[in-house]
Amino acid sequence: MISDSLKIIRSAVDGFDAQLIAVSKQQSDEKINEALDLGLRTFGENRVQEAQSRWAHRRDLYSDLKLHLIGPLQTNKVKDACTLFNCIHTLDREKLARAIYKHAPDMPCFIQVNTGNEPQKAGISLENLDNFHQFCVDLGIKIIGLMCIPPLDDRPDSHFKTLEERARSLNLPNLSMGMSGDYDIALEYGATHIRVGSKLFGKR
Ligand SMILES: *Cc1c(COP(=O)(O)O)cnc(C)c1O
Repeated sequence: MISDSLKIIRSAVDGFDAQLIAVSKQQSDEKINEALDLGLRTFGENRVQEAQSRWAHRRDLYSDLKLHLIGPLQTNKVKDACTLFNCIHTLDREKLARAIYKHAPDMPCFIQVNTGNEPQKAGISLENLDNFHQFCVDLGIKIIGLMCIPPLDDRPDSHFKTLEERARSLNLPNLSMGMSGDYDIALEYGATHIRVGSKLFGKR
C-alpha cells in the first residue's frame, strides 16, 4: 500500500530536483518498517520525544537514515533534537538559533516563514525575514533554505511563489514546501524538499 502511493509521489517528483521527506509522525511501527523495507531513509517528525521513541533504536540499524525536524522546537529540547536530527526546518527566532548553534554549529537549518501572517502559526514574518537571516549569518549558523506551511484556507500558489522569490533574493538554494495536498504545486514553484505524510502512509 505504501509502495503504491510511493510510486505515485515518485513519478510526480520525477524530472524535478527535489527530495521526498516521508513524514512518519503518528504512524504505526508496521508502516515505518514497510517504508524502510521499500528503501526509504529520509523521514520527517514534528515532535522531538515522539521521534526519539520511534527512531533512536533504528539509528543503529540504518546508518544512512536522515531525520528532519519539521515541527516547532522549544529551546529546552534543542540538545535532544540536535542529537537525533540531521536537519531542522523550523528555525524562526534568535534564541532558538543561538541554542542550536551552541549544541550543533554545523546543523543545516531552514528558516520557517509565516507567509500567511497567521497569528497562531510559527515562523518569522516576511517583514522580519531579511533581518533574521542576517542575524543567523552573523551568528554563523548554517542556513540552507526557507520553509513554509501555507494557510489551510488559502490557495498555496502565492505562498510558494513568495517563498521562492525570497529565497532567491537571499541566495538560499533550498525550499521546504509542499505536503500531501499540494506537493505537486510546490514542485512547480521550485520545492527542493517536499514533506509528505498521509498521502504516503495513509491517515494518521
Ligand atoms: C504533518 C506535517 C506534514 C505532512 O502532512 P501531510 O498532509 O500528512 O502530508 C508536513 N509538514 C509539516 C510541518 C507537518 O507538520
